[in-house]
Amino acid sequence: MSPTENDTNAPNYGFETLAVHAGARPDPTTGARSTPIFQSNAFVFQDAEHAAELFNLQTFGFIYSRLTNPTVSVLEERVCALENGRAAVACATGHAAQFLLAATLLEAGDEFVASKNLYGGSITQFGLSFAKLGWTCHFADMTDADALRAVMNHKIKFIFCEALANPGGVVLDLEALAGVARDWGVPLVVDNTLATPYLCRPFDWGADIVVHSATKYIGGHGNTMGGVVAESGKFDWYQNDKFPCMTQPDPAYHGLTFAETFGDFGFSMRLRAVTLRDYGPTLSAQSAWNLLQGVETLPLRMERHCANAQVIAEFLDSHPKIAWVSYAGLTSSPYHALARKYLPKGAGAVFTFGVKGGFAAGETVVNAVEIFSHLANVGDTRSLIIHPASTTHRQLTPEQQDAAGAGPDVIRLSIGIESVADLIADLEQALART
Ligand SMILES: *Cc1c(COP(=O)(O)O)cnc(C)c1O
Repeated sequence: MSPTENDTNAPNYGFETLAVHAGARPDPTTGARSTPIFQSNAFVFQDAEHAAELFNLQTFGFIYSRLTNPTVSVLEERVCALENGRAAVACATGHAAQFLLAATLLEAGDEFVASKNLYGGSITQFGLSFAKLGWTCHFADMTDADALRAVMNHKIKFIFCEALANPGGVVLDLEALAGVARDWGVPLVVDNTLATPYLCRPFDWGADIVVHSATKYIGGHGNTMGGVVAESGKFDWYQNDKFPCMTQPDPAYHGLTFAETFGDFGFSMRLRAVTLRDYGPTLSAQSAWNLLQGVETLPLRMERHCANAQVIAEFLDSHPKIAWVSYAGLTSSPYHALARKYLPKGAGAVFTFGVKGGFAAGETVVNAVEIFSHLANVGDTRSLIIHPASTTHRQLTPEQQDAAGAGPDVIRLSIGIESVADLIADLEQALART
């Protein structure tokens, strides 16, 4: 195991300093200043006793890269510091992060509740694939904490939401949701992919666990997949009997109890030493390195992403061929007040709008753009566009498309960091063809 928990004795550095430095130090043997790619499956033990201690989780260190790798550890510490958390585990994708979270906390027959406003892939993973493992997901309207309270029951082991959700620019009241989680003695888990810790730190508002698709803004360049699970270290696993995984002795580690032995980073230890070890969706050292390159500029990129998105949302909002724009940065958005509270530095850079002329007009726009790329991704330096009704949501009925915020006229943008005047000119010429 490696010491991937946040060093609580570190000076109180600013976000931009942490984005460049947290978790990294010059390589002690070579002096290399940039974090090396430790392209090694396994790591030599000092002697038999050291090996035994590592296998018993009695000391920190590296054994085998399915569990820990020095390059991956730097990324884990980096994201953990940016989220102001206690410990973090990186893995192969955002979906792997969600799987590791659920597989750590849930037994077959357990339940959890997720926001209705979720990344489409998460709705499928939770609603269909998790059901095959005996885990039941209830979907609730989390724009209303009372609607969440109404679906809670004693089998529910966690509450899952996106603070800033796509499609639709929905911003949730994290403090209110954290209150429900506290009342029921379960962790609030926030998928912080679209906000990133630069815009919002869910732990500061009472969340207990954060998951990321590092594929998006953390890496930020549309070239590497990755995921992260981070914990605040503040959740009390002993407050009820819902979490035997944390509070009961583990036979795989000679009766070790994770919450007792590791205290405020016990969840991350369990997620790594049992779930990641046994299911294996590990992040490669090369991918960790790519993501580290990206995360150094997270604050700079997010600033530009948000500034560009705000200008483009305002441009579209006043365009005669646009029916509506759903962006929490617009004063007309029902989520504007929540965005000002939880996302004071900007409302993110992924949003939807409706083009007059429906399905055909939507197809025309995505065919006509030149700088925007027509593809299914978000959080790239490049500006991206997609018409969900003719692509990602094509298989759904018109009623299902509407419910998912993917009606025939809906276009989703992920605004990049290019010159905003060029992006506006591109959209202008595309809209002129509708
Ligand atoms: C992309 C995405 C995911 C899934 O992440 P992958 O890295 O594609 O597995 C989860 N949540 C959100 C909000 C996403 O945008």
